[in-house]
Amino acid sequence: MRKPIVVGNWKMNTTLASARALAEKIGDGLRGVSQVEVGVCPPFVYMAAISEIAKKKGLALGAQNMYHEKAGAFTGEVSPLMLKDFSCDYCILGHSERRSLFGETDEMVNRKLHSCLDAGIAPIFCVGELLSERERGLAKEVVRRQVSKGLEGMAEGDVRRLVFAYEPVWAIGTGRTATASQAQEMHEFIRSLLAEIYSPNLARSVRIQYGGSVKPENTLELMKEPDIDGLLVGGASLDAESFLKIVAHAQAAYEFKLSSQGREGKKRC
Ligand code: PEP
Repeated sequence: MRKPIVVGNWKMNTTLASARALAEKIGDGLRGVSQVEVGVCPPFVYMAAISEIAKKKGLALGAQNMYHEKAGAFTGEVSPLMLKDFSCDYCILGHSERRSLFGETDEMVNRKLHSCLDAGIAPIFCVGELLSERERGLAKEVVRRQVSKGLEGMAEGDVRRLVFAYEPVWAIGTGRTATASQAQEMHEFIRSLLAEIYSPNLARSVRIQYGGSVKPENTLELMKEPDIDGLLVGGASLDAESFLKIVAHAQAAYEFKLSSQGREGKKRC
């Protein structure tokens, strides 16, 4: 069964002191959490400090973005090799805020995905439709384009290293969460796309997170869905208590899935 992964995207928030305190609190709260992979994505400038805490506490470390080049005259950018220096495990790529506020195209996301993998960092590849696209019945078409263009030129073995994140743009930071069945339908669709482009085996093995106004109250319902393997959490990840409740619910949902799988297996015997 796919191991759940819950990652906090701190965006452009925290100070050095509050980032340290948040990482420490989250790390301390992870005792007893053995079945969920948990990570945090601090702002670049705090990576060094949080990297030390993450190592001590068994937290995964992620970046919120990177440039596709390794080095050179790219003022203000951060290369994947620099991230690697801080033992960065993950990098969020294709986030809707990068696409809408900073003009990132599918082609740019594709270059970043390749370069991130080359550096040995696992991308968290975000896709998701706008509200206007959903209302026009275009959600699946948009996600199909983002997935297929994002993965252009990528071998199956590399895609296995990715974590996907379905984040409907209308649910990000709005307090409006996709219902569990809306999210499940899109996750199943992404898996079917991967089966079509690569293989059913790959589609079964990759993890797909949901993101968009996740909070402790909606975690269990979302995580019980068969194709939802984790969560990318924005706002609620800035509060250690809320984030830890989300992690605990993700673990409970995983245990529920494991036991129902066991029951199904016994029935078949
Ligand atoms: C995000 O930015 O990836 C996100 C899901 O944000 P929020 O949880 O605040 O909606």
